[in-house]
Amino acid sequence: MTLSRAHVEDVPPVASVHAGLGARLSLGGAAGDAAEFRDRVRALIRERVAPLLPDAEDARRFPREAVAAFGSAGLFHERWTGGRHGDLGRSVLLSEEMGRAGLGGIGIGVGLHLEAALPLLYRFGRTDLAKDALERGLSGTAVCCVATSEKDVGSDLSAVGAELRRDGTGWRVRGTKWFVSPGAAADLVLVLCRAEDGPAVVLVERDGVEVVKRLRTAGMRGLETARLSIDAHVPDEAVVARPGHGLSALLAGLMYERLAISAQIMGTLDLALTLAATHLRRRRQFGRPLVDHQALRLRLADLVSEVTITRRGLYGTVTELDAGAPVTVCDIAGIKAVAGRLGERVASECLQFFGGSGYLEDETPLARLWRDLRVCRIGGGTDEMMLEIVARGVRGDARLYEEWVERG
Ligand SMILES: Cc1cc2nc3c(=O)[nH]c(=O)nc-3n(C[C@H](O)[C@H](O)[C@H](O)COP(=O)(O)OP(=O)(O)OC[C@H]3O[C@@H](n4cnc5c(N)ncnc54)[C@H](O)[C@@H]3O)c2cc1C
Repeated sequence: MTLSRAHVEDVPPVASVHAGLGARLSLGGAAGDAAEFRDRVRALIRERVAPLLPDAEDARRFPREAVAAFGSAGLFHERWTGGRHGDLGRSVLLSEEMGRAGLGGIGIGVGLHLEAALPLLYRFGRTDLAKDALERGLSGTAVCCVATSEKDVGSDLSAVGAELRRDGTGWRVRGTKWFVSPGAAADLVLVLCRAEDGPAVVLVERDGVEVVKRLRTAGMRGLETARLSIDAHVPDEAVVARPGHGLSALLAGLMYERLAISAQIMGTLDLALTLAATHLRRRRQFGRPLVDHQALRLRLADLVSEVTITRRGLYGTVTELDAGAPVTVCDIAGIKAVAGRLGERVASECLQFFGGSGYLEDETPLARLWRDLRVCRIGGGTDEMMLEIVARGVRGDARLYEEWVERG
């Protein structure tokens, strides 16, 4: 799916985002297809996924039914159809809609299944076992996740310590993974581990995994992030990225995860900004609506502008990637770094527009959205790591410098 520039440029003002954005993207050039796809996603979320949210938040459990709902409706297949990157436009639409419905941890969990785990299988899984796992993930009968982090391994994945050793005709995988989402609910875990010849990615079934601890995260409570102990014997066929190729496979997969996180942030901010814009019109203080106070009105306008520009950057990047243009990891890291920080800041400002009720979890969703979005600056690669990637791509120009600076 291509996200056409014409449609991107036609993004409506914030107050009408719920009604209008469905028609903004084009699938293969046809805006109607995008609207139809978005409508189907919205209806499915409204009927089958959003009702799962209160219990997921309260119980801190990821509802497997969410993955089953999207998968059985064929949406995951539609997203992973097409070329090397599947259909990236559909990926953006799905993630944005999950954000716009305020799905928080459920949305991120579905996103990690769809955009972190499945791309590894789609792009690198060559064996029948990996293809079968991909099909289970796409149809929503299995929940998939990726386990890379360890006690001493976070940003620097090259230091991965989980062991992969030859064991008879297959392999033995052993190690403890520190944060895995939705780890406690997953049926299939793609594990980054180290063999003699370097890092590899191996597929491990549920019975080779034990939940050591369910983690009490500040936000994204429906994500069910867990610490997992892995001890499994797996056949040769379970090796998705062979020793020495694990990190490059993982980094290729991270590209989709970072775009999906950014898209979910954009959707979540649509929800937060729309609620804030409506509240500023309804709530009166000092004899007039809050929106008539210039300080608030201009702050809202500033935030809307930043979100609009970031969304256009995201759409433009995805459109170019879909069209085979040379989008770099730096471009994608830059989007994630900007979107992550923007998410936290805009959610916080929208909470502020509500005053005290913004801080009350029973009265508005703003406090939850704010604590949910905080993790987007950490998961999928921290701000600092994203900016390090961007920094590596920043070059000077000696000739230009000499012409402008050293000409005297
Ligand atoms: C809710 C949640 C869900 C998660 N889900 C998953 C999951 O599903 N699968 C998974 O594998 N992992 C997951 N993670 C782990 C996540 O990817 C890591 O937390 C993240 O990559 C950072 O690693 P770390 O926590 O070890 O921090 P560290 O790497 O120890 O970094 C600590 C701080 O130092 C900074 N830093 C590190 N190195 C440098 C440097 N060279 N220059 C400048 N700054 C630096 C970091 O940016 C960070 O601010 C999850 C984490 C959370 C909180």
